[in-house]
Amino acid sequence: MTGERRPLIAANWKMNKTNAEAVAFCNDFRVRDLPASADVVICPAYTALRTVVEGVSGSAVLVAAQNIHAEDSGAFTGEVSAPMLLELGVSAVVLGHSERRQQFGETDAALAKKVPRALAAGLLPILCVGETEEERDAGETQRKLRQQVQADLAAVGTEQLADVVIAYEPIWAIGTGKTATPEQAQDAIAFVRALVRDRDAGLAARVRILYGGSVNAANAANLLDLPDVDGALVGGASLDPDEFSAIVSAAPW
Ligand code: PEP
Repeated sequence: MTGERRPLIAANWKMNKTNAEAVAFCNDFRVRDLPASADVVICPAYTALRTVVEGVSGSAVLVAAQNIHAEDSGAFTGEVSAPMLLELGVSAVVLGHSERRQQFGETDAALAKKVPRALAAGLLPILCVGETEEERDAGETQRKLRQQVQADLAAVGTEQLADVVIAYEPIWAIGTGKTATPEQAQDAIAFVRALVRDRDAGLAARVRILYGGSVNAANAANLLDLPDVDGALVGGASLDPDEFSAIVSAAPW
């Protein structure tokens, strides 16, 4: 990473932790030890959002939801909107996680509405992109990344591009214990940055791009030290407060 970009480390809890378990995490997570030079974000399930907002209050830790609907209200049973989250003190949202794309039919067309909606509402969008193992093996990684980045950010004005955080998450590395090599992570993330550069050369240097995929306390330092990697989106290893603290501490900033 470079000094131009503020690093960000996010804990994606997915569908884990009851409200009581979220309370326990907040009690154990050592927010006082967190570096002032990086953003730390926790992404609980909707049911634990208020608890985590309260649990980290007084610290700089941000709380993110794992999805939003593009509309503010209406006949969308089971959905949650940006204003509902803002009211709880949520300040960011993960969009387009591969689990949502693969298991819940999240499309690039829907994301093209959700990303600008999040920005307009004042939520920091963390947009996930990444290729499957088959796509990587077939030499299709760049095509997939180009398609997702271009489509999902199509309606984001150039002036707001630097307000989007992009997480490069190779699907074959998520929850598998198989981490991208530093070279694979750097190449893919540099390519994503080049895609942003196609929209605006100046802003590309300011867009934060994270790596996600089986990051843990043992491998974090190597990945986070790469020139284009501005942080990490951490799934499984973020569920344990000590492990997540160790990942944040392993960062070279
Ligand atoms: C994720 O959920 O985005 C993720 C990267 O998970 P894991 O760290 O468990 O691979």
